[in-house]
Amino acid sequence: MDDHTELFAVIKADAYGHGLLRVARVAAAAGARGFCVAILDEALALRAAGFTQPILVLGVVSPEYAALAATNHVAVPLVDADWLTAAQPYLDAQHPLAVHVALDTGMGRIGFREVTTLQRVLATVEQTAGIQVNGVFTHFATADDPDTSYFQQQVVRFQELMQAFRVRPRYVHVSNTATSLWHAPATATWSALAWVSTA
Ligand SMILES: *Cc1c(COP(=O)(O)O)cnc(C)c1O
Repeated sequence: MDDHTELFAVIKADAYGHGLLRVARVAAAAGARGFCVAILDEALALRAAGFTQPILVLGVVSPEYAALAATNHVAVPLVDADWLTAAQPYLDAQHPLAVHVALDTGMGRIGFREVTTLQRVLATVEQTAGIQVNGVFTHFATADDPDTSYFQQQVVRFQELMQAFRVRPRYVHVSNTATSLWHAPATATWSALAWVSTA
């Protein structure tokens, strides 16, 4: 990890069964700068326990919870144009919602796949006071596979989709545990956030 890389502890699903708060305490003491969780409830539990570090929910959060996330300083994924439309009524310029833009580079779960759609949504976000892009991320499907061809395809797609951003978001994160372990040199230059999980 270089000086520009920060480490967030992925403690989703009750820290993979090890206990959310217990693992959060240990991870923070060990130097984790922030946390990633699976659902909004886990983020709120961390806030209720007094954790003030940055928190990102990795799973899709219902748009009607945008205000709840924003007032608790919890970042959520921006997954597609419909999510933004549905969240609009819940956005508040006094408490801007931080979002991490999800890019689907081949995982096939959540995120933008088209540069043009992404550009349009980012332009809307720029004009909306109640929402701010704080990060961008993708998830590699085969980072632990000895055959790196699909991984390389995802890297190329990621770089294509990143062209849609006029400004590079504060957090660029692609490195789940397997990517951190097996592909550090490939991703070091453009990933500003590494992940470590308790799995
Ligand atoms: C779960 C998750 C991670 C962490 O994955 P591990 O394989 O547990 O390290 C990273 N990024 C995203 C988007 C995730 O959902």
